[in-house]
Amino acid sequence: MKTALVCGAGGFIGGHLMNRLKNEGYWVRGVDLKHNEFGNNNADDFVIGDLRDPRVCESLFDRQIDEVYQLAADMGGAGYIFTGEHDAAVMHNSATINLNMAETARLKGVKKIFYSSSACMYPEYNQLDPDNPKCSEDSAYPAMPDSEYGWEKLFSERLYLSYYRNYGLEVRIARFHNIFGPQGTWTGGREKAPAALCRKVIEAENGGTIEIWGDGKQTRSFLYIDECVEGVRRLMESDWTGPVNIGSEEMVSINEFVDLIADVANKEIHKNHIEGPEGVRGRNSDNKLIHEKLGWKPTQPLREGIAKTYAWIGEEVAAAAE
Ligand code: NAD
Repeated sequence: MKTALVCGAGGFIGGHLMNRLKNEGYWVRGVDLKHNEFGNNNADDFVIGDLRDPRVCESLFDRQIDEVYQLAADMGGAGYIFTGEHDAAVMHNSATINLNMAETARLKGVKKIFYSSSACMYPEYNQLDPDNPKCSEDSAYPAMPDSEYGWEKLFSERLYLSYYRNYGLEVRIARFHNIFGPQGTWTGGREKAPAALCRKVIEAENGGTIEIWGDGKQTRSFLYIDECVEGVRRLMESDWTGPVNIGSEEMVSINEFVDLIADVANKEIHKNHIEGPEGVRGRNSDNKLIHEKLGWKPTQPLREGIAKTYAWIGEEVAAAAE
């Protein structure tokens, strides 16, 4: 039986990935500061631990671990990573986790380690035009991410790649683009745009108004969680290191995105544009490389994923109100 360690297993993507690995027949150990609050908790062994502590990292390898999935990070949506208030924590916490995990994986002879980078590492200067953002993998340099979160991701990509070159540690690196879906944070300040906008539409009356950060003309693409996990597994099974985009190419403006959610909700929703942290003006995944290397790319229409996510957040909002 293959064994896997999922770091950040109490989080959104880690929880879904853990389920997927269990369904594939893996023995899975999860580690996180906390349990998954939405019930994605079916690890064979779940360790509550802080990966900033190298002794915790070492203790996770008291049995043979074939594959490591490193998703733990100090992270959140625009309200968390673009205000500047958490920059030092984001850089210190996430970099320490990655320094510890790369070194522990080397010392413990791990066969393969996956690292979740982010589209936030792409340079801001290629994402100023909302209609034509450039996020092909080869456009990463000269580097100029628009947040410290993005700089840390870039540093950690390079960290894992240097462990690959110098120590032969097999690494796989993906740059995720806005992953969303059920069992993700939907309130509390760390939620991301898809969950926050679904929640706002759910809470609004038919014909009501919701607040949107910025003019709503900024563009993004959003990838449903199941396709993200599929991409991670395909990358891990391949003999290619990456880095590679795992994202959707269905780019929408935030205004169009709100209209889509309102349509799924069957509500008329008006928009009040207010000042708020926005990130870059435009961003879209470029899936040429993933298709070329893995013979696969995400294809699910945004609407399908939003319908499932909207229904799930609706249940959560109703349960919270009881
Ligand atoms: P998440 O916040 O739900 O999960 C991250 C988990 O890491 C959390 O459960 C958190 O408790 C845990 N963690 C943080 N510090 C820790 C520590 N010191 N020790 C142990 N655990 C710790 O985020 P997510 O959306 O599941 O993202 C997973 C990974 O994917 C992250 O590395 C993130 O940067 C990356 N990513 C996500 C997206 C996205 O759209 N969700 C986009 C790009 C990149």
